[in-house]
Amino acid sequence: MKIEDVKRICVIGAGNMGHQISTLCAIQGYRTVCTDISPDMLKKADAFVNKYLAGRVEKGKLSAEKAGQARENLSFTDSLKDAAKDADYVIEAAVEVLDVKRKLFADIDKMAPAHAILATNSSAIVSSRIADVTSRPDKVINLHFFNPALVMKLVEVVQGPHVSDETTAVSMALCARLEKIAVHIKKEVDGFLLNRIFKVLAREALWMLEMGIASAEDIDKACVYGAGHPMGPFSLMDLTGIDLAYTMGMEAFKKSGDPADLPAPSVVEHVARGEYGQKTGKGWYDYAKKTN
Ligand code: NAD
Repeated sequence: MKIEDVKRICVIGAGNMGHQISTLCAIQGYRTVCTDISPDMLKKADAFVNKYLAGRVEKGKLSAEKAGQARENLSFTDSLKDAAKDADYVIEAAVEVLDVKRKLFADIDKMAPAHAILATNSSAIVSSRIADVTSRPDKVINLHFFNPALVMKLVEVVQGPHVSDETTAVSMALCARLEKIAVHIKKEVDGFLLNRIFKVLAREALWMLEMGIASAEDIDKACVYGAGHPMGPFSLMDLTGIDLAYTMGMEAFKKSGDPADLPAPSVVEHVARGEYGQKTGKGWYDYAKKTN
């Protein structure tokens, strides 16, 4: 398959990542179908697209014609079968739980055309842990977007040992067409490039917070004003979801059995209280009160 053969994209999951990836694909001219098991998430995603496109037109960033085309290109459905049946490229952005992803890939493999590439947007799970449930492991790859996907330029393309050069080349080319900067990761490693670096930073930040050395605000300030990061580790966790930090830790522990991989106690406490960050209005920061 060549990049020119990719015309229809299926995005699985309409959450934090999926709704933005779908919007991005539709703006760049791809017929895109986004699917989710939650009707509520689909409704929210649909409303987001209208508001986002209108905002881009108002700011002069997108012509009314292009916005209209993008809206026409994008549809939402709760039927995985309908979403996958004509897809040339599938991007899975469902929850970060290995068993859920394995079940989804086994299902999509039966529903999507034989030529379709099946990519996962997982933050840390390498595709070889998923590819074996399909009949096309050479076409199963990691395509890791960053949050917010409409804004962040980087995409990590991870070529596991089972992935063909053709699948990798099409995936890299797709990123270029989506106006992203793709990096080619030539060997599988859990967490890929950037999340491995962030993990070290977050672990140290959480340790300092839990030891009472400094507040979350001051640790964030140090990273922003001393290291030039666009945001500190606690603000970033609030953006990406503390629930995601929790599930990533649990998944890593399930694989390694190393207690050092378990989520930090303060992360567990937030998740137990339902404080996932920006999406619930409270995380390390209280978004009803936060001014900066
Ligand atoms: P999220 O919780 O915001 O959204 C996940 C969505 O998946 C939910 O709407 C849920 O209803 C849906 N879902 C669950 N099971 C499903 C199924 N069987 N079929 C269809 N939909 C299903 O999660 P998110 O933050 O968007 O993360 C999605 C994926 O993207 C994860 O693998 C995550 O690791 C990865 N990711 C997240 C970020 C981030 O910053 N949040 C960044 C990069 C990658």
